Amino acid sequence: MSEKYDAIIIGAGIIGCCIGFEMAKKGYKSLNVDKLPTAGEGSTVNSCGIIRTHYSTWDGAAIAYEGSFYWKDWENYLGVEDESGLAKYINTGCLVFKTERNNYLKHVCENLNDLGIEWEELTPDQIRKKMPLFDVHKFWPPRRPEDPKFWDESTEQIDGAIFTPLAGYVTDPQLSCHNVQRAAEAHGAEFRFNAEVVDVRKDGNRVKGITLKGGEEIDAPILVNVAGPHSFIINRMAGVEEDMNIKTRALRQEVCHVPSPEEFDYEKDGFIASDGDIGCYSRPEVGNHILIGSEDPDCDELEYVDPDNFNRDLTDAQWKAQVYRMAKRLPSLPIPSKMQGVVDLYDASDDWIPIYDKSKLDGYYMAIGTSGNQYKNAPVVGKLMTELIVKCEAGYDHDADPFKYKLENIGRTINLSFYSRKREINPESSFSVIG
Ligand SMILES: Cc1cc2nc3c(=O)[nH]c(=O)nc-3n(C[C@H](O)[C@H](O)[C@H](O)COP(=O)(O)OP(=O)(O)OC[C@H]3O[C@@H](n4cnc5c(N)ncnc54)[C@H](O)[C@@H]3O)c2cc1C
Repeated sequence: MSEKYDAIIIGAGIIGCCIGFEMAKKGYKSLNVDKLPTAGEGSTVNSCGIIRTHYSTWDGAAIAYEGSFYWKDWENYLGVEDESGLAKYINTGCLVFKTERNNYLKHVCENLNDLGIEWEELTPDQIRKKMPLFDVHKFWPPRRPEDPKFWDESTEQIDGAIFTPLAGYVTDPQLSCHNVQRAAEAHGAEFRFNAEVVDVRKDGNRVKGITLKGGEEIDAPILVNVAGPHSFIINRMAGVEEDMNIKTRALRQEVCHVPSPEEFDYEKDGFIASDGDIGCYSRPEVGNHILIGSEDPDCDELEYVDPDNFNRDLTDAQWKAQVYRMAKRLPSLPIPSKMQGVVDLYDASDDWIPIYDKSKLDGYYMAIGTSGNQYKNAPVVGKLMTELIVKCEAGYDHDADPFKYKLENIGRTINLSFYSRKREINPESSFSVIG
């Protein structure tokens, strides 16, 4: 006899946990299975946890704005205590630089205005006032240190920036998963760890259940693929990939940790910077450190990898590319001789916009392709996926007439065709982590 659930969620990262939470609240007997030992040990553990609203698309900005309400009121969203403590949202604001690639933020600002999200325009002088450590020269286009032009002196000033005060970051993304796990369990959800899914079983065109490594079978008529960078592997088990116009792949990323200049309290007075002019994003990190990631400029080659076999060490070349570029903006940045940071994977979709959708296999759903920018949206995705599942299971044809989802905090409605597996590549995307 195999065990039976109403729904199985493959993955217990932040999005998998939030889907488990919402499904349990709706009365589903749900089970999250994860091959790792605890919640949030997949790509979520190394997430920078940045919450920001400057996306290139209206829908991207709207859902991120909606998501920010949950992080600001985390305790209420969870509705339970966690013996490990609660993840914290640190509100710093975010400085976003204008560049040729982001069209000098024209569309970004239109979206912010339309959604009523606060922002202010800053000239180079005003940027210096906000962050005296910053050099406001223009370094565009981003280059790598091995390019001789990298070392040219800049004579021009940058084209300005905007500051969005609501942005911030979550201090411990893995703890936030544990928090949601506890919240889900309070509603009857179950979690199984050290449990690797090796097969998706079907009955005709309907999901039947999963088989775990070791041969154990667990049955459920609903299966949700939230396997992060392994999403394409689960899709292949289910045989649903050929019906998808947008696909997902594992993309390797390095994030560097460097100390702040000693005289400056970056943790207290620093903020998030999305600096397309140097092709890097940065944020304050505990211990008065600065965390530096790539914004995927053309000069940084994309490294698609096998999610079960990739280099987990920082590389000298990428470390130098990110840290030296940041040192152009912040010339007093101390550059340690020992590299420190993390290496992990994005589950990148073809257009850097996720797939939140059903599939051609009845009962099989996907919340994948999060492309390095969906941590912030997890609580919203938990809700919208649950509503989508409820509707589709009641016979609604989401492919023919895409479901529209009302974002409850901001009162706006998004058409889920935006996240369809069948969409054409969205030309409005930044084709980078910015989304
Ligand atoms: C370096 C980095 C920085 C980021 N920074 C930000 C940021 O600042 N802001 C932001 O919004 N987003 C950011 N992101 C993106 C964000 O972290 C992800 O979108 C989010 O964590 C994805 O959560 P998830 O639950 O979908 O996937 P994951 O956390 O990857 O979870 C998937 C889970 O599925 C499990 N799994 C896979 N295959 C199987 C199997 N066969 N059987 C059982 N279990 C399986 C894995 O073990 C894993 O735990 C970043 C990502 C990275 C890598």
